[in-house]
Amino acid sequence: MNIHEYQAKEVLKRYGVAVPRGIVATTPDEAEAAARELGTPVVVVKAQIHAGGRGKAGGVKVVKGPAEAREAAAAILGRKLVTHQTGPGGKEVLKVYVEEGCDIDRELYLGMVIDRATGFVTLMASTEGGMEIEEVAARTPEKILKQPVDPAAGYMPYHGRRLAYGLGLEGDAAKSAMKFVAGLYRAFVETDASLAEINPLMVTRDGQVMALDAKMNFDNNALYRHKDIAALQDVTEEDPRELEAAGFGLSYISLDGSIGCMVNGAGLAMATMDIIKHYGAEPANFLDVGGGANAEQVTNAFRLILSDPKVEAVLVNIFGGIMRCDTIAEGIIAAAKAVELGVPLVVRLQGTNVDLGRKMLADSGLPIITAETMSEAAEKVVKAAGN
Ligand code: ADP
Ligand code: MG
Repeated sequence: MNIHEYQAKEVLKRYGVAVPRGIVATTPDEAEAAARELGTPVVVVKAQIHAGGRGKAGGVKVVKGPAEAREAAAAILGRKLVTHQTGPGGKEVLKVYVEEGCDIDRELYLGMVIDRATGFVTLMASTEGGMEIEEVAARTPEKILKQPVDPAAGYMPYHGRRLAYGLGLEGDAAKSAMKFVAGLYRAFVETDASLAEINPLMVTRDGQVMALDAKMNFDNNALYRHKDIAALQDVTEEDPRELEAAGFGLSYISLDGSIGCMVNGAGLAMATMDIIKHYGAEPANFLDVGGGANAEQVTNAFRLILSDPKVEAVLVNIFGGIMRCDTIAEGIIAAAKAVELGVPLVVRLQGTNVDLGRKMLADSGLPIITAETMSEAAEKVVKAAGN
């Protein structure tokens, strides 16, 4: 799960990580009041969307005083901001963060991720802050310092020292950076974050290190033990079908292709997506109805797939193990009757009660294209979609 910059800064503050003062606003009036309350001669009005690159896209405005803050908020709020991370459609700005203007001496980069190869949290730092770190990594990888932290031993002060001195910091700034890194690590581990990115990590003219920007992602599978973090979810930023699927207890991820997929088991779902690509089309979604789904869940899954206007054909690929093929057939028939089946439907069933399931589909009178093998099913669905 992703959260907004202002929320990430609130979380980090709780762990003693230095962030500038700021107030979130949803209207120009609120932005003006926020700037007045902050009381600094310069304030920065920042669009709150789940995407970076706001600065370049005009979503970060440095202004003088409450009246200008109001104007900046009026210009940003309600606008569709298109950045290199939003896709061409952009994202509508519903909130701005009004923050004290900072006296920046240097802009650095600090990131934390989980390195799946080593199982360690890896800290990354670079003097090339403020710009796209992907570009730095591609062009000048030597400018990125990496510091793995073994979770069994935990964070040690030398980790922070290496990064601070590696960034060329000295004196108060180095001390401030070490405190910052230690706090960020603690926040990362204790909230079950999967990513924390501070870009830029700012050094002020008086030697303080602070997060000028903050991005945090959390492991969805750990959210059950962080009710406070889960409550930060902004539903306006989420894919509505993914939200609905989560409510039904289905694993669903929207993709860009045209073939809707309903599969049981994550492995089979991945294999199904691969074989669709192999036959020249792209999947519209990943959907794992799970091992023990009932007819109602299958119906809901089916509705969800058909509600996606990108879907030009649907492939149901089920291996009946715990899930019986007749349950799937029952769900498909119920759903196809309830929702108008406007696109071709290819069904491939194998496993427990397969004969009964196939008979139910055949007797239903629905225009279902059946297949025995996965390749046959994939080939048929791609053809049916007109690819
Ligand atoms: P994004 O990464 O989405 O472009 P940032 O939060 O990194 O947004 O802001 C972009 C740039 O705006 C920063 O690199 C910094 O130069 C400037 N900026 C952001 N917040 C402040 C602030 N509080 N005071 C001064 N400058 C700021
Ligand atoms: Mg940034």
